[in-house]
Amino acid sequence: MAATGLVSLLPPARCRVHLIESDEIGIVGVGEATLPQMKSFNDLCGIDEAEMMRATNATFKLGIQFVDWGSLGSSYIHPFGIHGPPGTEHIFHHKWLRASREGLPGQIDDFSFACRAGVANRFDFPPKSSQSIGSSYSYAYHFDASLYGRYLRTIAERRGVRRTEGKVANVETDAESGNIVALRLENGEEIRGDFFIDCSGFRSLLLGQTLDSPWEDWTKWLPCDRALAVPTERAGELTPYTRSTAMEAGWRWRIPLQHRTGNGYVFSSRFIDEDRAAEQLLSALDEPTLAEPRLLKFGAGRRTESWRKNCVALGLSSGFLEPLESTSIYLAQIAIMHFVPLFPERRADPSLAAEFNRRVDLEYDRIRDFLILHYHLNQRDDSELWRYCRSMSVPDSLTEKMELFRHSGFVEKYRDGLFTPPSWLAVYFGQGLRPEHYHPLADAIPAAALMDEMDDLRADIDDRVDAMLKHSTVVERYAGING
Ligand SMILES: Cc1cc2nc3c(=O)[nH]c(=O)nc-3n(C[C@H](O)[C@H](O)[C@H](O)COP(=O)(O)OP(=O)(O)OC[C@H]3O[C@@H](n4cnc5c(N)ncnc54)[C@H](O)[C@@H]3O)c2cc1C
Repeated sequence: MAATGLVSLLPPARCRVHLIESDEIGIVGVGEATLPQMKSFNDLCGIDEAEMMRATNATFKLGIQFVDWGSLGSSYIHPFGIHGPPGTEHIFHHKWLRASREGLPGQIDDFSFACRAGVANRFDFPPKSSQSIGSSYSYAYHFDASLYGRYLRTIAERRGVRRTEGKVANVETDAESGNIVALRLENGEEIRGDFFIDCSGFRSLLLGQTLDSPWEDWTKWLPCDRALAVPTERAGELTPYTRSTAMEAGWRWRIPLQHRTGNGYVFSSRFIDEDRAAEQLLSALDEPTLAEPRLLKFGAGRRTESWRKNCVALGLSSGFLEPLESTSIYLAQIAIMHFVPLFPERRADPSLAAEFNRRVDLEYDRIRDFLILHYHLNQRDDSELWRYCRSMSVPDSLTEKMELFRHSGFVEKYRDGLFTPPSWLAVYFGQGLRPEHYHPLADAIPAAALMDEMDDLRADIDDRVDAMLKHSTVVERYAGING
């Protein structure tokens, strides 16, 4: 992504990109669920959507379904879209809250077009210029991350990126400035550069190991530190959403691709051992496995500086937040997008690094709080992990947000970083937090009129969803790998 982004967005006269990758080391390769921002990145880089989807066995994604998270037996969807009609975001959830108190059955999900389309396994592209409820969503992809990497590589090379296959054995720095000057490969080849992008994954070869950017540990809030990943055959409906099911010591993902389904159990080794986690994962699968489960180890946190000296780290080499909200690929993407406007002259000015770090830190911190919310806001009493998470202290920034919502239903809308108010609302309501008060504006119409309005809206959404094609049909026609 970095090589493609840089070669596509910067003029060749100012930026020549040399990519080093090691086939022997390979990539993590388990990132399979994305966010809608991925489409913007691809569009910006001039990548054809249907071609990309075919090349990566991709399907569409309208959100994430959370099963058993708030309490055993509960379920909600965090949609890529708003609740209620466009233009009413500031008040709709207050009106729904009032209607719910007046006896309206169901959840706020019923008033999200993306949620309704998702559970009905339907998909359509959102209309570009419409203010109707049918345009109140966006979409992302499920895809094979290894294939996406390979696909981007061909594009990047076609656009002028030079690629060297080899293993970096040594990083050479300038004794005076501390800047990186060259990478020496195992075969002795030396590759010099003005600026270095560390995409070496959890190793963080340049930023962590060479430039010693310290690691900030967040495992006290996000205790999951292992994952077992296993693909299964594709069976049943092609759901246009990721499913995340809370388990005894973590959660299990289910991600439908065109040719297979990705599954995995993200768990905390403090609360369960690997054998038992594997047993729980395998017994929960509803389709035959295609390989043995693969174990991955990690820890939540980030480097205190993602840009140090003449090096920027992207992706796992800069930090890790578990894949609960599919944010890692986004974090790599947004770091590229923050880097391009700050692209340095030959000498990297420290003020550029400071601004980049401020922006990237904010991205990480916001996502961190949102992820913690999922764990902290639970009423499960059936296992130790959930009891621990419910009673743990959380960052002040999250406590403040929760208190505001708990009291008045207010959700802060911030300018930079994920997530927007509809996402916070989905998780607050989905995990069982109800504000003490709704906004007085929700009392503007009589109760009976409000109930009629809600009923009409629900019917409108259902009619529109009924008219949509099946997700599997749209995928097949638009980007089917067998077509
Ligand atoms: C269990 C799990 C599930 C995940 N699910 C999702 C998800 O659903 N959505 C999402 O957005 N993200 C997800 N992620 C994160 C996602 O996998 C990563 O963000 C993504 O793979 C990018 O990783 P990366 O490029 O930073 O590192 P890697 O994939 O590890 O790539 C590192 C690269 O550096 C090269 N390299 C390393 N050392 C050397 C060396 N010495 N010499 C030469 N080359 C070297 C390797 O060859 C490789 O090309 C998940 C992660 C985990 C652990």
